[in-house]
Amino acid sequence: MTNDQPAGDLRLAELSKRFGPATVVDRLDLTVGQGGFFALLGPSGCGKTTTLRMIAGLEEPTAGRVLLGDRDISGLRPYRRPVNTVFQSYALFPHLDVFENVAFGLRRRKVREVAEQVRRMLALVQLDGYDRRRPAELSGGQQQRVALARALVNHPQVLLLDEPLGALDLKLRRQMQLELKRIQTEVGLTFVHVTHDQEEAMTMADTVAVMNGGRIEQSGTPAELYEFPATAFVASFLGQSNLLAGEVTGRHGADLLVEAYGSRFSVPAARSRATGGAVHLGVRPEKLHLIAEGEQSPAGTQGVAGVISDVSYVGVSTQYLVRTGWGTELAAFAANSGTAARLPVGAAVTVGWRPEHAFLLAREPGDG
Ligand code: ATP
Repeated sequence: MTNDQPAGDLRLAELSKRFGPATVVDRLDLTVGQGGFFALLGPSGCGKTTTLRMIAGLEEPTAGRVLLGDRDISGLRPYRRPVNTVFQSYALFPHLDVFENVAFGLRRRKVREVAEQVRRMLALVQLDGYDRRRPAELSGGQQQRVALARALVNHPQVLLLDEPLGALDLKLRRQMQLELKRIQTEVGLTFVHVTHDQEEAMTMADTVAVMNGGRIEQSGTPAELYEFPATAFVASFLGQSNLLAGEVTGRHGADLLVEAYGSRFSVPAARSRATGGAVHLGVRPEKLHLIAEGEQSPAGTQGVAGVISDVSYVGVSTQYLVRTGWGTELAAFAANSGTAARLPVGAAVTVGWRPEHAFLLAREPGDG
């Protein structure tokens, strides 16, 4: 399990898994940079856990390979792989205290200086002084830290985390997200974290891969995925987005011209995933501003007219829904730090945006 040589990148090459007739992981090609914090994000059932289990060696791939640096580790038994997994269920030994839970792997490998290594790990996860407690005497968050210490003490080259914060309440989960990020930076290992929570993935990971139906739809930094999604699925899985169905009708300089809802909009060609034809024009809610009747539109904005159908005050922002003349509802978030008065339900407004804040996605015929 231990390996002190540099690990190199983790690479999945054409990795597939079928269960009977169902292909649940479909020719996955993926590189996780050494020392990176990588999140595999997707809805329930998309194949995240199966992928993780194939990296750990707990599930045999139907096809493809798992490589670590130059080494093909596909044929190795789980305990021979320089990989450890932390599960949502923690899987601690209930009859052993915290110290012995963490020491377990070291004792099995007859490592010397167990006490010192265990204490160093307990300090890393901020559990000094808890060594003699049993798991039942700890909170969920503390149990999760023990599970983490137990995995890290073996010095794996890659740590796999399968929804490790899923059982914690929201506040603790937020705290542990930052904690995990701190620990990852401190130990410098490659972390592969599986989650269905987009906020969690974006908070922690430097690279996020969005998985859908056994395939990766897009991978990149959280900002790349959010600001310029590759597909409608990514756009709507990572936060809220407004997608207007339109057609590319031409080009003007560096902009594509899009006709949607009887109006013409410009979108920089560099912000387009499509070269022509049917598209979705997308704008994130916080990039939209509402211009009340009689107010001047800020220079350089374009927009559509509508009527406010819902107003929600959520502390940092006010979230509006605006129904357009075409029956589509657009979400617009306005920060509450400004001085602008809140607009009421029923107010006629123009929903405006700057061309460079929009993006274009290819639209399948009949989709939207
Ligand atoms: P969740 O977030 O709910 O854990 P997931 O993205 O991790 O979902 P997987 O657990 O990888 O998804 O499951 C992917 C698909 O494979 C699911 O449809 C699941 O029912 C199926 N599946 C998983 N393990 C097996 C198995 N051993 N035999 C048959 N089907 C399986």
